[in-house]
Amino acid sequence: MGFSEKKIAVIGGGLGGMAFMNSAIHTGLRNVHLYEAAAEFTEVGAGVNITKNANRVLDTFGLGEDMLWRSSRNPPSYMEYRHYRTGEYLGQIDEFGDPKSRQIHRAHLLDVLRKKVPDEMLSTGKKLEALEWSVEQNSYILTFKDKTTTTADIVIGCDGIKSAVRKHLGFKDSPIYSGQMVYRGYVSYDDLTAETAELLHKTVNFRGPQRHVLTLPIGNDESKTSRIGIIAFMTEPLEGWTSESWLDKAPIDDLYEHVKDWTGAVQEIIAGLRKGHPDGLILKQTLYVREPTEKWFRTDTAENGIILIGDSVHSTLPHQGMETDPQKTGQGACMAIESGFALSQILQHWPSSSGDLQSALQCFQDIRKPRTDKITKTSYEAGKIASCAIPEEMWIDTFKPDVIRDRMKWVMEYDLLGDIRSKLISKEQERSESYDGDGAKGVEVRA
Ligand SMILES: Cc1cc2nc3c(=O)[nH]c(=O)nc-3n(C[C@H](O)[C@H](O)[C@H](O)COP(=O)(O)OP(=O)(O)OC[C@H]3O[C@@H](n4cnc5c(N)ncnc54)[C@H](O)[C@@H]3O)c2cc1C
Repeated sequence: MGFSEKKIAVIGGGLGGMAFMNSAIHTGLRNVHLYEAAAEFTEVGAGVNITKNANRVLDTFGLGEDMLWRSSRNPPSYMEYRHYRTGEYLGQIDEFGDPKSRQIHRAHLLDVLRKKVPDEMLSTGKKLEALEWSVEQNSYILTFKDKTTTTADIVIGCDGIKSAVRKHLGFKDSPIYSGQMVYRGYVSYDDLTAETAELLHKTVNFRGPQRHVLTLPIGNDESKTSRIGIIAFMTEPLEGWTSESWLDKAPIDDLYEHVKDWTGAVQEIIAGLRKGHPDGLILKQTLYVREPTEKWFRTDTAENGIILIGDSVHSTLPHQGMETDPQKTGQGACMAIESGFALSQILQHWPSSSGDLQSALQCFQDIRKPRTDKITKTSYEAGKIASCAIPEEMWIDTFKPDVIRDRMKWVMEYDLLGDIRSKLISKEQERSESYDGDGAKGVEVRA
């Protein structure tokens, strides 16, 4: 059954690629190898918020405990909103039930994901440069920057928004600038007044015109991982960006210029950033997004193909619900985790012993694309709207946390496992009139 015997190459060892490796191991795919361009597995940036929908998947792999050891615990709300200038409480979105959202340092999450993947399934320093189908060898030939090569039957591109695998699939489009730059850094609770420290034990969104400062209470005291991740979204023209990379360092003063008349808690955040980053520099990133893509894969034979997951195909702007678009959610990593799980289940349990990778990958795309397109689209529209001036007097009419929460439920309460299972069962029913359900029964539905 399925493609469990096939040699699978995963390109990219970020959160998406490493989550796929956990899915593959959990599902029973063994002939899988991940190739990462960097010399070691690292994640840059502040913390990340992993929500219920993705935590259900990660808990299925048995990662919950390790993750919780280094995550925030029982945050009192999903997000609290504050007025940027006065600091006034504007409302909050309550949590979506168990498992709750977890705010964790990116490097710690990568570490949790890395632990269960045996070393022999991973290679670093392998930047993919060329990918070709070889009729003679009946496999893909992958060539890396260090001039080494390898072969694979199936290639999975998890190499981020500027994906090399995507280029090899023939896509000519470029990522689109969202209109916003994001400043990212950390603040220690010790560098804040008691009142602000207490406030920032919650996820807080200081909402300003065309800008917002998001604070994530990362980690916890028990594992000594507790600190505040600062993610500040500021509308800026791209013309001011001189770096060749889309991720660089910038003076904290640049962020301060945006927020110098904001509330006292934000001034404390700026002072805290200065203490925590003595060189006066924090990460600054240009925020890009891609329009939804029509086809996520290509096949060269009934058993050989290339498929994209994660930011390489369904990147989304990292907004977590603002006044203008209630469906805005920071979901890129969560979507990559969901997609990795869905893909490994389909590859392992596809109800055909005679290949038909084309149908398997199409089924995977049919499960994932409507959901990721909806998230990408709402985030992209929101990014555009966020770049417009919304008169402050309209905020009160457009900002309704209860409505926001209701409209985010489809993201959080989605039953991925059930969806995969029902699609596999209907495929098996299509295939065999005397259906016995063996393939689909292999899908473990654990919530
Ligand atoms: C400011 C910000 C905040 C965010 N907050 C959240 C959040 O709270 N929650 C959430 O769910 N998501 C969030 N996201 C989105 C999330 O970070 C991304 O969606 C997620 O990290 C994508 O993972 P990925 O593995 O697909 O890609 P990436 O993380 O980009 O990883 C790609 C990997 O591939 C490697 N690579 C690249 N090219 C090659 C090559 N040619 N050969 C080999 N390897 C290669 C790279 O080195 C890298 O390790 C946020 C994003 C931003 C920018």
